[in-house]
Amino acid sequence: MTFASLGLFEPLLKTLTSLNYQTPTPLQLQSIPAILGNQDLIATAQTGTGKTAGFALPILQRLTLAGAPVSANSVRALILVPTRELAEQVHRSIQTYGQNLPLRSLAVYGGVSINPQMMGLRKGVDVLVATPGRLLDLHRQNAVRFRQLDILVLDEADRMLDLGFSSELNELIAVLPKQRQTLLFSATFSQRLERLAVQVSRAPQRIAVSTRNAAASTIAQWLVPVDRKRKTELFLHLLKDRQWGQVLAFVNTRKGAEQLVQAVQAIGISVETIHGDKRQPTRLRALERFKAGEIQVLIATSVAARGLDIEDLPLVVNIDLPLTAADYVHRIGRTGRAGAAGEAVSLVSADEVSQLAAIESLLGEVLTRHEEPHFIAEHRLPVTTADGLIRKKPKKPKKPKIPRQEAQPSPSAPEATSAARSRIHLGDWFTDAPGTEPKPAAPPSKAAKPAPARRPPRS
Ligand code: AMP
Repeated sequence: MTFASLGLFEPLLKTLTSLNYQTPTPLQLQSIPAILGNQDLIATAQTGTGKTAGFALPILQRLTLAGAPVSANSVRALILVPTRELAEQVHRSIQTYGQNLPLRSLAVYGGVSINPQMMGLRKGVDVLVATPGRLLDLHRQNAVRFRQLDILVLDEADRMLDLGFSSELNELIAVLPKQRQTLLFSATFSQRLERLAVQVSRAPQRIAVSTRNAAASTIAQWLVPVDRKRKTELFLHLLKDRQWGQVLAFVNTRKGAEQLVQAVQAIGISVETIHGDKRQPTRLRALERFKAGEIQVLIATSVAARGLDIEDLPLVVNIDLPLTAADYVHRIGRTGRAGAAGEAVSLVSADEVSQLAAIESLLGEVLTRHEEPHFIAEHRLPVTTADGLIRKKPKKPKKPKIPRQEAQPSPSAPEATSAARSRIHLGDWFTDAPGTEPKPAAPPSKAAKPAPARRPPRS
């Protein structure tokens, strides 16, 4: 099944090709035709299922092909999200997917000045991504009108309820046009959420997909935070210290591949490289030698390695993280095949944190971090979450000046949960549902032992 066969039009197909999205995810297979067909939708789907593209692509197409141009202070599609990080993330996706379309988009959320957001709304926006509290504020100040609203999306609806946004949601829904398309996405469905779903939608199509965790569960994945300039040194150290056997190592550039080859050769380990500058017969010969166990390290770029048939490889190392999350899954898919145990190690520098977040979001899990003594990074790798979020170092919460009792949430907010209460205390930093913290780093196995038949001579 292709994106074209789902009914997406040319400008979007062009964008998807440039993003290297080759096939729709199971969620997208169902959501895209339904949304293009003006169906309401209730979807059980977590982050990592491709849900953002699953709703954003058909919405952008519908807004481009039908409806009047947006009027001042109006909105045509509204995406409600629980946190400002998610608002930013969804807005970035809208901008990416809509890059070839004549549509305006904006993200509004609390914790920052409202004035620029009011200015941004003046000309009207086709797609508005918003957290409920700030949107209500803007509506109360007449900065936003909903007469032109055609599409409402509730993203991560369960987290919105968990964070205590129930009354804001009800207030907002009451002022939206009844005639609209409604799409609700949630990882979990409680009775309370089911009531909300029934209240907001009309004859919805229901879809449920599990997390798109394409990585084989037999692959042990971990990463080592390291400064970019010390990656080669760390790789050579790990090769020796952990007595790695055959390794398929990925870098992002041809130049990087050539430099690494020289460094590996310099410590007396047999190595070959395959990248775009090498002719196909040369690449194939390198691969054959690697498969025959004649060389220990094969260094490759993603493009050169696509379609390589290497089975039972115990270890893949990402010296550079790939530019797309899908490429990560392709790369590490070369190990742990057919149920065999495999290991995938990534050397990650602070400037790669966005790529890391996208990968973890696609996998639906945070990769275990292992700090290597003597290689502790000066540029710290920011903390990431399984939702694909990047945490800036939190400011120490100020001690409240008011007496403790008064700092409790008001009794007029009966929906506020413990998560919502934490949010009140810590201000805008605490925006995530509990349970998304990365697991503490468990030390990985000391050595990924090579298959005996493959062990190459160290020449
Ligand atoms: P989401 O579930 O929306 O958070 O998406 C998770 C990740 O999957 C994001 O990094 C997307 O860029 C990526 N993604 C979404 N759809 C596809 C697709 N069809 N092919 C490859 N990557 C995708």
